[in-house]
Order: sequence, then C-alpha cells, then structure tokens
Amino acid sequence: MARYTGPGCKLCRRAQKKLFLKGPRCMTEKCAILRRNYPPGLKGQESKKVSDYGVQLREKQNAKAIYGILEGQFRLYFAKAAKQKGITGDNLLILLERRLDNVVFRAGWAESRVQSRQFVRHGHVLVNGRRVNIPSYLIDVNDVISVKEKSKDLLVGDRVKNSGSKLPIWLNINKDNMSAQVLRLPKREDIEIEINENLIIALYSK
Ligand code: SF4
Repeated sequence: MARYTGPGCKLCRRAQKKLFLKGPRCMTEKCAILRRNYPPGLKGQESKKVSDYGVQLREKQNAKAIYGILEGQFRLYFAKAAKQKGITGDNLLILLERRLDNVVFRAGWAESRVQSRQFVRHGHVLVNGRRVNIPSYLIDVNDVISVKEKSKDLLVGDRVKNSGSKLPIWLNINKDNMSAQVLRLPKREDIEIEINENLIIALYSK
C-alpha cells in the first residue's frame, strides 16, 4: 500500500498541533510546531473561518497522518468498522491500533510509526514466529510479535523513555527478548491519540 512520503512536519503545521510523526525530534525545540505554529503556504498566517466540514476533514487527515495511511485504505477501515458490532468510531480506532506497524511502535521498538513501518517492510518483525512484512497486518488476541534475532540491535528500546508515553496494557511486553504477546484487543480508552473519531464518522456519514 502506498503511503505519504512528504514532509511530516507540514502535516502537523496544517493540523496546528503536534502529531508526533518524527520520534525524538518531536520532543525537542526543533519541532516545527514550536517554531512556526501556523499552516504552511503563503496565506498560512491569515486567519480563516473553518466550516464544520473543514473541522471534520481536518480530524480525518490527522488520523491518517498519525497512522501513516492514505485515503483509500482509510475508507476500507471505515467500511470494516461500520460493519462490526459496537460503536463505529471506536471500531475504527481499534482497527488502526491493531496494525502491526503500530504495535511495533507501541511496544517501544521504533521511534516513530514511520520507522516501525520500515522495520516491518524490511522483514525484521515476526508474528507467531513467522516473518510478516505487511505493515497493515492486523494482530489478534494471543499473537506473539517479536523481532528477528539478527535484527534486535537495529530496533530501539528507548522510545518510551524519549516520548514519555506509556506502554499499552493490552500487550505483555518482554523487554529482554523483544517480544510482545497480545493479551486482549485494545479498547478505545487504551488509545492515547488526540483524535475525535465522532468528527470522522460525521464526515463519512454525509
Ligand atoms: Fe510534528 Fe514532530 Fe515535526 Fe513537531 S517535530 S512538527 S511534532 S512531526
């Protein structure tokens, strides 16, 4: 699947908030949001009235930027979430959270989702002992995600220390052998991203 390859900081500036797309850099004074907190472009500093539609669209763009996916795939997640039992907004975020590249990031083995996606694509990650190089692979209960023995030095173990974010309680992470077992699927309250999924649902329901 294709992915956005443009400058990550531009996405944050458009969102006018930190989306934490660049790992440790996001915690330093080099962060573009700290230096230029206005949208990119010639008219970026002009104040504009944003419509309800614009607010909803922005929220969707933010979710896509955070998880590193494009419109087509995002729509597929929405369609899948809408078919599942329960609240569609919760289902949508839970599906995104179950992506293998996200789990590698959440486990603290990569500094950003961009990096964890690359680790998965390059075949450094195993699921139940078998190499899986599909970043969108959806993990399930009892799956064991681990890092190939030869690749352990490549993957970092200190993202959590850098970002201050918590390790997910739905994963049983063994830091010594770099493996994580999925104890249960994530719930909405476990997902610590600043996204109002109701706005996204409202957008797609038009
Ligand atoms: Fe966003 Fe990180 Fe760039 Fe700051 S450094 S603008 S949080 S991607």
